[in-house]
Amino acid sequence: MASYKIAVLPGDGIGPEVMAAALKVLDAVGEIEKVRFEYEYAQVGGCAIDETGYPLSEETLELCKRSDAVLLGAVGGPKWESLPQDRKPEQALLKLRSGLGLYSNLRPAVVFPALADASSLREEIVSGVDVMVVRELTGGIYFGSPKGADENKGWNTMVYERHEVERIARVAFKLAQKRGGRLTSVDKANVLDVSQFWRDIVIEVHKDYPDVELDHMYVDNAAMQLVRTPKQFDVIVTGNMFGDILSDIASMVTGSLGMLPSASMGEKYALYEPVHGSAPDIAGEKKANPLAMIMSVSMMLSYTLDLPHAGAAVQQAVSEVLEAGYRTGEIFQEGDKLVNTDEMGDQVIKRLHQIKNEEPA
Ligand code: NAD
Repeated sequence: MASYKIAVLPGDGIGPEVMAAALKVLDAVGEIEKVRFEYEYAQVGGCAIDETGYPLSEETLELCKRSDAVLLGAVGGPKWESLPQDRKPEQALLKLRSGLGLYSNLRPAVVFPALADASSLREEIVSGVDVMVVRELTGGIYFGSPKGADENKGWNTMVYERHEVERIARVAFKLAQKRGGRLTSVDKANVLDVSQFWRDIVIEVHKDYPDVELDHMYVDNAAMQLVRTPKQFDVIVTGNMFGDILSDIASMVTGSLGMLPSASMGEKYALYEPVHGSAPDIAGEKKANPLAMIMSVSMMLSYTLDLPHAGAAVQQAVSEVLEAGYRTGEIFQEGDKLVNTDEMGDQVIKRLHQIKNEEPA
């Protein structure tokens, strides 16, 4: 029986609640697919600070390195907000990204038919949206030097090296091949030299993926197009800062924060986590929507564990649960069936078994 080692970092606030629901779903996948998932737990964020004084220990980083994949809940909360910047729970996220070399961040924004009316945009604009934003995560202006500030000026530097652009472009082209075959590279090449460099390299890498249709868009136009006609996009690839902003715009097209999964990948390691934070306002009440965490598990199955069939089944199960009217509080509307965190997870598991039973023998 195939066996996979998963590092489980539930974190703070609603992190442990959504993680518990998602691991139950993963257990069901294991049962259905006849594979074993072994979980090794560690603390990260505020709870790790309480125990060790640090948001991420070396042992936890080592655990992540000897696992097939990492699942993270969420970190942070009011208890740790007054700590100095370099000792805050969120530092764990940066340390994980750099320690595991996670240079690409993948954020799918999918509008489920059952939730098309939950978006702040009109239903006809958002229904059918299925965009993947690929953000470069370890370079660009957030890391470039020189940087600094004095009394009279502040400065940062946007730098991209050839290998950084090449590798993120390859991630995006490969994803486009598996999806709709279209890639939009977003930059600001009309103003920034670094962006023209980015564009030239993406064009070069395109030669290895002739089956993908490539186009380029300036970032200001891309922001506008994402809210005007989001359906025009398949895969978007962009640098760190532009990706930070565009992935938030793309996700909000879909409605709720509780529905957004993400993957961060490098050459050797991969980490999967929901986009939302630790939601201290509802922590401990079993009100959290576990679907973002559950869909992060679905991405892990598809992208890292080579079980795309199982990943697709989880995604389908989520869609069917929503279709059947089940909602956690933050997306609940009159006429829906209100469920708590665990019940939502259980509904997904029920559908997963049904999907399996409906498969031709
Ligand atoms: P948040 O995402 O935690 O919450 C924003 C709002 O969305 C809240 O009203 C919350 O109740 C709601 N919400 C979020 N996830 C939900 C879910 N799964 N189901 C239902 N409702 C959900 O953002 P915030 O309030 O700005 O931050 C709270 C803490 O989380 C802070 O300490 C922040 O630094 C941290 N944070 C962590 C991460 C991470 O771990 N990756 C990301 C963002 C924020």
